[in-house]
Amino acid sequence: MPDYDVVIAGGSISGLLAAREIAAGGLSVAVLEEDAEIGTPEHCGGLVSISGIQNLGIVPDIDTIENNRIAYAKIFSPSSCFEIRAERQKVIVLDRRKFDKQIAFQAQKKGAEIRVKCSMRSFGKEGSDYVVKTSEGNFSCNFFVDARGIASIINTNRDGVLHSAQYEVYASWIEPHTIEVVFNSQQYPGFFAWIIPTGRGRGKVGVAGRRINAASALQTYIDSKGKYSVVRKVYAPIWVNGPLQSFVSDKTIIVGDAAGQSKPTTAGGIYTCGMGGVLAGRALVRAADKKNDERQKQQLLLKRYEIDWFSMFKPEFDKMLLARRLLERMDNKAIDNLITAIPKEIVQEASVDGDFDLHSSALAKILGTKGAARMAKALLGNEIRRLIPES
Ligand SMILES: Cc1cc2nc3c(=O)[nH]c(=O)nc-3n(C[C@H](O)[C@H](O)[C@H](O)COP(=O)(O)OP(=O)(O)OC[C@H]3O[C@@H](n4cnc5c(N)ncnc54)[C@H](O)[C@@H]3O)c2cc1C
Repeated sequence: MPDYDVVIAGGSISGLLAAREIAAGGLSVAVLEEDAEIGTPEHCGGLVSISGIQNLGIVPDIDTIENNRIAYAKIFSPSSCFEIRAERQKVIVLDRRKFDKQIAFQAQKKGAEIRVKCSMRSFGKEGSDYVVKTSEGNFSCNFFVDARGIASIINTNRDGVLHSAQYEVYASWIEPHTIEVVFNSQQYPGFFAWIIPTGRGRGKVGVAGRRINAASALQTYIDSKGKYSVVRKVYAPIWVNGPLQSFVSDKTIIVGDAAGQSKPTTAGGIYTCGMGGVLAGRALVRAADKKNDERQKQQLLLKRYEIDWFSMFKPEFDKMLLARRLLERMDNKAIDNLITAIPKEIVQEASVDGDFDLHSSALAKILGTKGAARMAKALLGNEIRRLIPES
């Protein structure tokens, strides 16, 4: 039976980054991916900040970037719209099919082994060995990393899952440098519709929402925009309930979407899930060191990953969860009122100072304006103080 220090189930951003770090630390590691190709089928908008990608230790190859200039964002409520400048956020659109392969190559160069069309079925102790059972036979290992994405977390709490649909669309109404976000509590309850341009007349158009038929909601949205051709369709669940309480249990370490590490506001996870992979990989290298053979010491070293991820992201995620609760309580009238209550100069200020990956300070700035704060307080009560302390 092939034997590794670490076996990882899931060959996407979090699993591959964990593998890169583990292999760089000198351990043997295999990544098992059930699909036939890394990065495919792609189920991502690919929107991320350059600084986020740099923090993950990646300089994207030129051909992985589908759009390197997102200059504006148009935000629609049911009966109004405003535009903000987004250039300062330095946001790009990645082709995840190519980007994930770039990380796979990074990991492989450090010594990781990647196996596609290999589906993990179970992990457990058999005699004195820890064994991962797969469609391609059994593997033994000292540690197992679960990076299987939503497939792993979906049954823990169905309430945290929203349905999404995203199509790749060719249409002249797609503006090359402008993201569109459309709030409508009837059509996309608890979420929004979006357009992410990948070039002139090309883009990814999607919707998500609680208990909606995402395919028909997206069809209605695209039909309302004008002429188009759809060249690819993806339906995928997204997770919006925030992180699991714990990412480490004995020999199993959970990373990425499998650990609930995507943002509760936008379900964006390239940066926060990727960081989960990086931190877990580094903690595993320390825990696997022969000097740290004692079980208790090993667990403490693995828990370091959890502590590091939570200290980087928990305060942000708590605020994003609150913003999510606010959105879920708003009807269309409340969305309209809120958007018209926010002074345009505050929106511009927030868009200049804000951070695309961690956006609670921009949210607090926007919701802290007089009219908006009053509305937010009416919907959230005193809880709003966790988002806007002075309210
Ligand atoms: C429609 C949509 C749009 C999105 N847009 C954005 C965006 O614009 N920006 C952003 O930052 N994030 C976005 N996201 C979120 C982002 O795609 C995820 O957060 C991120 O890909 C999570 O990475 P991951 O490695 O944790 O899991 P995943 O990318 O979900 O990968 C899990 C991998 O595990 C594999 N797997 C599953 N089960 C097994 C098994 N039993 N054995 C072996 N392999 C298995 C899967 O095939 C998959 O390759 C979007 C998500 C969706 C659905």
